[in-house]
Amino acid sequence: MNNIKDLQLAIEKANNIIIFSHVNPDGDTLGSMIGFSKLIEKNFNKKSTNVIIGKTPDTYSFMPSIHECISNESVDKNIQYDLAIAIDVAAKDRMVDMQDVYFKSKVTANIDHHITNNNYGQINIVEGLASSAGEVVYSIAKDLDWNLTKEIAELIYIAILTDTGGFRFENTSPKVFNYAAELVTYGINPTEIYRKCYESKPKAMALLNAYAIQNAIFKENDKIAYTIITKEDMKSFNAKSDYTEGISEALRQINTTEVSMLLKESPNQSTKVSLRSKRIDVSKIAEAFGGGGHHFAAGCTIQKPPAIAIEKLLELVKKSLNE
Ligand code: AMP
Ligand code: MN
Ligand code: MN
Repeated sequence: MNNIKDLQLAIEKANNIIIFSHVNPDGDTLGSMIGFSKLIEKNFNKKSTNVIIGKTPDTYSFMPSIHECISNESVDKNIQYDLAIAIDVAAKDRMVDMQDVYFKSKVTANIDHHITNNNYGQINIVEGLASSAGEVVYSIAKDLDWNLTKEIAELIYIAILTDTGGFRFENTSPKVFNYAAELVTYGINPTEIYRKCYESKPKAMALLNAYAIQNAIFKENDKIAYTIITKEDMKSFNAKSDYTEGISEALRQINTTEVSMLLKESPNQSTKVSLRSKRIDVSKIAEAFGGGGHHFAAGCTIQKPPAIAIEKLLELVKKSLNE
């Protein structure tokens, strides 16, 4: 890992620090961001400003100290920070309106695990093979001999747990299990955390999930499975934006599925796409539309309505399947 000494130095020098999640925040970006801010607090006695880009997801409201985070809308954009850290932010445009604040900071750090990350910071700690940003954050803490608390262990554990799909995805390496074991020794309760992450779905989320699967469309001998969720669907289920999490994965669970996609109708006639795969590299497909991600899980936003976006996607997915 490069640059961790630079990061330590930058934290030591900084009088004000700001940390960002990515837009449509998930368990990894939130757990890693809050965990990192608590590591700074514990080891340097400094508070940071933690910014959730986009809406705080209901499903993660149980996370320790999440209520100390602020929304990007309430950040004073005139302040110049000594240090700005983006965590789990694959590309700078995933910071949305916080890009100016980030890039005008004296030092910019980029802590991530997306293979498509192009090292947009001055200090880049990007490990394309790591399961999660949580894993990268924990590696940093270990390498620099930082102290943890039970709360920090829980936050990092949630980050690793959720980005490995509950220790199931192909990114679940021996290191992940070793780290998880170490984190549990801080006294956290894996059963309780599991229940909060996976058995606490709002009813509307479960029903929307079922509806999306019921309406799935299958192509290429069922190798491709996709479903579309419109703005009206979201309204009729009274769904919050994070309630669509897990739908693309659920379609991948079908034995015939090679590639699954969720197309979500978004503001201004655009479509947010979640791609999942068992074999082909979907990060390449997402990149073709200006997005990115990982080999088996990637995303992008296409500036067309779902009915048109799907045609373009199917073309590339079919080509990839036949390569
Ligand atoms: P999602 O389908 O939104 O759950 O995202 C799947 C993976 O791809 C996650 O690791 C995201 O961080 C990443 N990802 C999603 N959208 C983008 C994007 N527009 N640019 C780069 N990475 C993305
Ligand atoms: Mn993420
Ligand atoms: Mn991640």
